[in-house]
Amino acid sequence: MSDIIRLLPDHVANQIAAGEVVQRPASVVKELLENAIDAGATQISLIIKDAGKTLVQVIDDGKGMSMTDARMAFERHATSKITNANDLFDLHTKGFRGEALASVAAIAHVSLKTKREDDDLGTILEIEGSKVVNQEPVVTTKGTMISVRNLFYNVPARRKFLKSDNVELRNITDEFHRVAMAHPQVGLKFSSNDTELFNLPISNYRQRIVNIMGAKTNEKLVPVEEETELVKISGFVGKPEFARKTKGLQYFFVNDRFIKHNYLHHAVTSAFEGLLKEKNNPTYFLFLDVPKDSVDINIHPTKTEVKFDDEHSLYAIVRASVKHALGQFSINAIDFDKEPQYEVPYEYTKKNTSSPKIEVNPDFNPFSNTGSSSSSTSKSTPSYSKPAPQAWESLYAGLDDSSTLLDETEEVSMTTSMFEDEKVTRNIFQLQRKFIISTLKSGMLVIHQNRAHERVLYEQLLKHITVQRGTSQQLLFPLRLNLPVDEVSILTQLQEQLEQTGFIFKTLANNVVEIVGLPIQLKEKHVPEVLETIIRDSELDLPKESFSQSDRLAATMARGMAIRSGESMSQEAMENLVDELFACKESELTAQGKKVFINITGESLNLKFN
Ligand code: ADP
Ligand code: MG
Repeated sequence: MSDIIRLLPDHVANQIAAGEVVQRPASVVKELLENAIDAGATQISLIIKDAGKTLVQVIDDGKGMSMTDARMAFERHATSKITNANDLFDLHTKGFRGEALASVAAIAHVSLKTKREDDDLGTILEIEGSKVVNQEPVVTTKGTMISVRNLFYNVPARRKFLKSDNVELRNITDEFHRVAMAHPQVGLKFSSNDTELFNLPISNYRQRIVNIMGAKTNEKLVPVEEETELVKISGFVGKPEFARKTKGLQYFFVNDRFIKHNYLHHAVTSAFEGLLKEKNNPTYFLFLDVPKDSVDINIHPTKTEVKFDDEHSLYAIVRASVKHALGQFSINAIDFDKEPQYEVPYEYTKKNTSSPKIEVNPDFNPFSNTGSSSSSTSKSTPSYSKPAPQAWESLYAGLDDSSTLLDETEEVSMTTSMFEDEKVTRNIFQLQRKFIISTLKSGMLVIHQNRAHERVLYEQLLKHITVQRGTSQQLLFPLRLNLPVDEVSILTQLQEQLEQTGFIFKTLANNVVEIVGLPIQLKEKHVPEVLETIIRDSELDLPKESFSQSDRLAATMARGMAIRSGESMSQEAMENLVDELFACKESELTAQGKKVFINITGESLNLKFN
């Protein structure tokens, strides 16, 4: 028998190895941006089509490559950055394994155009699945342009595993942010599907963060500065009131490289102790400079983990310097004991301070039989043509039906008839600003006010999104929010549905959201929170079918808009809410499946007194 072990052909080996380096379009973005930085570029453009699935292109004005180097760059373990293993410990550059370009070229259509300053002609090189298909001299300017098209065209399994454009674009934006933040001395542009998302001029760290995160960020940053033998720390933390529930604005850079580090993250969080409301995350942008030989940057190219020699001391220094910085900004002024309130995470130009109250149509009677009263005209044989919602059918369980129920006059709607004193004064009151208690013939009803309102809004919104556009309330002054560009792009994708609910956008571009109309039930002051929740939920990347997306949007908005526990309600508001609740298709559960009310029967009360 012949031997059976063979060496894999290069292109297959490359394809396999590529999986390590390139998991998604964002990995390509990272590698290409880092190469451009390493090449000493002062201006870099990133151009994306279809969240990188169709095109990732990076153009830089860096040092360029010779014709031979251009060819070499795509060989595995081809790097200009190390010559022996010792160099690994003395690296200033980003890449160091010489694998990125070889990997990318194995699984995409790559074209490269590059020229060094002193060369007369540059080089064009085209590679498809590791094979060079074209190489020729070209007239071009100094620098390098790399285009990566049709990523994973020859690895369908991987292509299939890519997430929605939404999510992939967000990953790309994350990488872009990380590189941009660490290199304010480099001008960076980023456009996606021909829309410019970022144009970041050369600046300093603070200005760069502000340019990325939005103008209002500036006033929220507290500088952190510390210099010891072990580490030099600079950067910023967000004032505690800037903290958001959303994770994400947490950046550590070590020697200009973005890293994740749970232990150091804990150091920062613990410096914020007592200053943050529950579940809020601190914001930080911290740049650590450590001696090169005191840190072991994991050699795996896609990893962002590092190991420090003296992590305990580092922890203590980071924690102390953040604490010190926060202390200097006399944040003690903030009263954390007051009633939990809305965190308004984004500033907006016009502040609305009117107190929340629910808006319902007092004339709305879901059970009025307008237009279909034929079946209930006879007092002697009342039959309810309106499909009785299941939820409150169950309220009648245990009631002696005909005697109590059916001798109501036809004018008395079913809704009122199930309450003890129909018509004028229904026995209804609020308990602990959280529950609505109403007496029933059969006992009593304890309704969770927040959940009840959520249910009502959910059904209304869902109807608006899917069937019939909701009414808008025109705003006197446009409401302007500054949000990170990637968050705005999420809203752009939901624009149509949001408009169905009643939103009217004047601007929805770059990092600006300008709203001139709101869904009638949405209070202006709740807008930032509602939008934030929508953005956060969209990151969960549920399937794209329109139903589930509409459903989710309605549920999210309802959650953000519903009256909170802790808010007091007028008699009228409570009555309306109860009426609307029992007009819902499903009254018993919220969209998330939480119980909306409980029914305590007289019988069960009797038992308690036995
Ligand atoms: P590494 O960055 O680890 O060296 P890469 O595969 O990313 O490996 O790149 C291989 C080599 O190609 C680099 O070492 C560098 O010499 C060259 N190179 C890549 N991108 C650029 C660029 N934008 N400008 C100049 N040279 C580049
Ligand atoms: Mg590289």
